[in-house]
Amino acid sequence: MQNPQQTYRLRAPASGREALARAGGDGVYVDRESGEEMEIVAATLPLAPSESALLRSPENLRACRRCDQLIGLDVSDCPYCGLRQPALDGSS
Ligand SMILES: [Zn+2]
Repeated sequence: MQNPQQTYRLRAPASGREALARAGGDGVYVDRESGEEMEIVAATLPLAPSESALLRSPENLRACRRCDQLIGLDVSDCPYCGLRQPALDGSS
């Protein structure tokens, strides 16, 4: 397992500084430079646990039917040609 822990995007509200951190989702995160308390704004893809920590690893990609560009599984419209992507078989 390469990616056992979820990575989160953190933001310091006052300065807008952002950071990525592997975190359990609780606890307090403080910006090393400003000392500001940071809040979790998002979980980054791919969601842990998964086989790879790489955002665009093969299992997270599919090819667009029209332009054959590789795009993320989580993308609903092809960013290259705009083609609406079909729902994934057997999942959500
Ligand atoms: Zn396309």
